[in-house]
Amino acid sequence: MVLHLHRHRKADGRELLLYGRAAHEGAAGAELPPADGVPPHLRWHPLRQEWVGYAGARQARTFLPEESDCPLCPARDGATGEIPFTDFEVAVFENRFPAFAEAGDAPGIAGVRSAAARGRCEVVVFSADHRGSLATLPDERIDLLIEVWGARIMALREMGFAAVMPFENRGEEIGVTLHHPHGQIYAFGFVPGQIARAAEAQAAAPVIARMIEEADPALFLHRGARAVSLVPPFAMYPFEVWLAPRRRVPGPQHLDVEERGELAAALGDALRRLDRLFGMPMPYILTVQAAPAGHDASFHMTIEIKPFRRDRAKLKYLAGVEQGSGVFLVDVPPEEAAARLRAVDGAR
Ligand SMILES: [Zn+2]
Repeated sequence: MVLHLHRHRKADGRELLLYGRAAHEGAAGAELPPADGVPPHLRWHPLRQEWVGYAGARQARTFLPEESDCPLCPARDGATGEIPFTDFEVAVFENRFPAFAEAGDAPGIAGVRSAAARGRCEVVVFSADHRGSLATLPDERIDLLIEVWGARIMALREMGFAAVMPFENRGEEIGVTLHHPHGQIYAFGFVPGQIARAAEAQAAAPVIARMIEEADPALFLHRGARAVSLVPPFAMYPFEVWLAPRRRVPGPQHLDVEERGELAAALGDALRRLDRLFGMPMPYILTVQAAPAGHDASFHMTIEIKPFRRDRAKLKYLAGVEQGSGVFLVDVPPEEAAARLRAVDGAR
């Protein structure tokens, strides 16, 4: 399978990349005017021992526009959005309202250590079609998306960023501001604490391979020759689902064609089960966990889906215990979650 890439530089200097199985044809149309904003920066939290990001310009970003004003739709009927082409397969562009930037200075702020928020924020548009979701896209498109995640992880690591995380926030319930099927990629100038802890745990022991090998077969939604999906036995959210290739690879850029195809099919299956569980779209956070710098030899990639609905009319909130102590309380045990997800049809 070929991965074609058409590179385009937007009028305001941002990069736009069109990835596809077919070569992209067509000339660029009109572009959005440049956005103005304050450069983002970081401040050190002395008790968490972690950076906190500040990006004031993000308050101005587009909030739930009408479909005719969607900035992620292709440029049709004279509309001007982020993608000045009439069609595309998967589009990636630098976020107009980034939380991290490639350049910038550490502002001096009294009483706190600060730093430039070095990094890069990209938007990934899954399809030219405004309707639908990752769960309703064909397996071939999910496969292309996984390959694009890998290509971006590789490119951004080569640019010198320490950690790269593709993710999708899905659903207004968790603050999504655009309905068009899309996700994001954050490249960090440092390794975030949670990713560092996961990488250190994996350097000490092959915890993902062990989980795949030893977890109760009843937890699995898919248990194939090359890839699996399951409710992890230590899930922190009700109906949490993880996917992984059986072979240890540090990121999607190292999957072979068969592994990627099986992972794509299992991802679509898992998302459709989550949407059908309560008969309504499931709000979730999906993250692609790939090796940060220095951990390629021991990290086993996963795709983690954290759903935010614990019952038809009940959302999962991170409340006092979770926020105050970091201890997660889960009221649907993983065994029950897996049994209920297995009872739902994941077919298209
Ligand atoms: Zn749209």
